[in-house]
Amino acid sequence: MNNQHKEINILLVDDEPNNLRVLTAMLGEKNYETRGVLNGSMALKASKLMPPDLILLDIMMPQMDGYEVCRQLKADPLTCEIPVIFVSAKDQAIDKVKAFGVGGVDYITKPFQFEEVLARIETHLKLRQLQQQLQHQNTQLQTEVADRQNAEQALKEKNGLLQHEIYCRQKIEAVLQKTNEELAAANAELDQFACLASHDLRAPLTSIFSYVQLFLMRYKEKVDPDGLKYLQNALKACQRMQLLIDDLLTYSRTGKMKNDFEPVDCNAVIEQACENLEKVISETKTVFTYSQLPTVKGDDSLLIQLFQNLIANAIQYCQEETPYISIMVTLKDSQYLFAIKDNGIGIETQYYEQIFQVFQRLHTQAEYPGTGIGLAICRKIVELHGGQIWVESELGNGSTFYFTLEPSLEEQKPAEVPAKKLFATY
Ligand code: ADP
Repeated sequence: MNNQHKEINILLVDDEPNNLRVLTAMLGEKNYETRGVLNGSMALKASKLMPPDLILLDIMMPQMDGYEVCRQLKADPLTCEIPVIFVSAKDQAIDKVKAFGVGGVDYITKPFQFEEVLARIETHLKLRQLQQQLQHQNTQLQTEVADRQNAEQALKEKNGLLQHEIYCRQKIEAVLQKTNEELAAANAELDQFACLASHDLRAPLTSIFSYVQLFLMRYKEKVDPDGLKYLQNALKACQRMQLLIDDLLTYSRTGKMKNDFEPVDCNAVIEQACENLEKVISETKTVFTYSQLPTVKGDDSLLIQLFQNLIANAIQYCQEETPYISIMVTLKDSQYLFAIKDNGIGIETQYYEQIFQVFQRLHTQAEYPGTGIGLAICRKIVELHGGQIWVESELGNGSTFYFTLEPSLEEQKPAEVPAKKLFATY
């Protein structure tokens, strides 16, 4: 027995109960589920209530004939897809043409052979099934197309955004490049000015200094105490100006000399820097802790100047009885990161950048003497070596100056320095 038709539901429409009974019995044997109705309006109702898979429709019925039923079924979106097979005693060609004209898919003439009815039912069910599959595939395809169109649209929008971003970045880059060029030009101008000015100022200043000294030697007795004080002040001002000119010259000359870097042992650099600062170190009893330092790629005299300036500042800007300075090194992005930490007066956050500019000082001469050029020189030296320099600090709580230097080429793989083990007292 064939069970595959169990779920297929066929609506039988005939005003003759006997015909319904025969068809129900025959189709039941083939395992089709059937519902039988005796007139057109019941057929319409039943179809709407639960749309069947197929309708076998008699033509000649009182009140509403099969043609009208079929017309109404086809006019309703809920039932228009149901295949309708007309079953009728009318066998004129015109009847058949009319039946197809109102939307029927087939026409069986009574009296019929049951095998023929079955064959036609199966054919149309199969056709219907294929049609549904096609519709389903079509819907899927349409969804896919819509999805793709949406994705394409989204891609277009993203592309648009990306292009806008690229445009903005290019604009920013252009502005940045222009600013950099202007900055480089301004720096070059400043360097040139500093070099010329300091050079040309040196001679007249020496003259003033010498003549005031000479005046004091020859006419000291003839000048009253106020006059003497004024002249001493003039000498002090000359000395300070001399210091400024010297620092300015150092700043403008930094980097103008040879630039072929060599391996430089930072331990030797520190030793030399400390030797140069020996007087102030011993006077202040400064305590150093530092690890074994690495070998970097650079210019030894510039590096000595860098360490010397930072150490001198760490000692100078300290109010504690004993300045404590620690020098540490770690590895960061294949560069050495140096940290020089002090227990000094500290710096407020808003001055972190300013102090690296020429002549920028945070104190008066009376509080702490200086020219305001030391850190500008440090920055120039570090940048010449391809590194960066910055400060982290807290007012009243010491400062740490950080800078990066490249490992020397001889050190194939830069070594991480185990700080604890290697710390030593200078
Ligand atoms: P100078 O020391 O001659 O004034 P620098 O360029 O070396 O010039 O320093 C600029 C300013 O930065 C100093 O005047 C000081 O205010 C501040 N500064 C530098 N180093 C330190 C430090 N270790 N602790 C606190 N302040 C510092």
